Amino acid sequence: MKFKRILSVIISLSVAVSALTFNTSAHTGDYFSGTYLSTSPCNQSSLGFVVYSSAQTTLLNYNDVYSKAFAWDGITDNVNIRIAMYSSGMPTSTFYGVIGKDLGTETLGRITAYSSSGATVSIDSYWHSVSITMNTSDVFNNSSYPTQSAAKTFMHEVGHALKLAHPEQDSSLTGHTYEDGRPLAIMNQGFVEETYVPTTIATHDRQNLIAKWGE
Ligand SMILES: [Zn+2]
Ligand SMILES: [Zn+2]
Repeated sequence: MKFKRILSVIISLSVAVSALTFNTSAHTGDYFSGTYLSTSPCNQSSLGFVVYSSAQTTLLNYNDVYSKAFAWDGITDNVNIRIAMYSSGMPTSTFYGVIGKDLGTETLGRITAYSSSGATVSIDSYWHSVSITMNTSDVFNNSSYPTQSAAKTFMHEVGHALKLAHPEQDSSLTGHTYEDGRPLAIMNQGFVEETYVPTTIATHDRQNLIAKWGE
């Protein structure tokens, strides 16, 4: 009996230690509140995107661009990603849309969140659905590395669709050691050439995703 008691103390101690590590590595300011409504056609446990032809251009190896969203897949059991290139006649009711559009020179990409009635809602509210717009002018055409730039932008926008925010710029936060107090993260806002925006999802992105959706 005594042995059992000691064992349970050790187990609860190890839970406390891992919870402590967890709490110091993610930051609530790095992700949004709200979740998907249960009536959503898909949700974070099976987040599907269909890439429409406007976001598939001959300037890109677009399979390389859009398959990079799988970097978010399986980090937690509660977040899974599906990607499909649109083809005529395919059922799209269980996917969110990815479209290409000329957004000018200031914006690489953006997400738009909708209520169940189709109204645009704020990013930290409860969403029924979401769409991603990729800037086919700036990201796809103007960089020396269009496929890499578009891939980084797409991973970033999918991160927003998973409720991740731009990480707080605060050097007092754990891991926020880069320029202006940023962490190394795909979720940093900034030009895709900046060194604090890596070519794939970073540890701090993973930590925030787990903090948001659980392990
Ligand atoms: Zn952080
Ligand atoms: Zn952003």
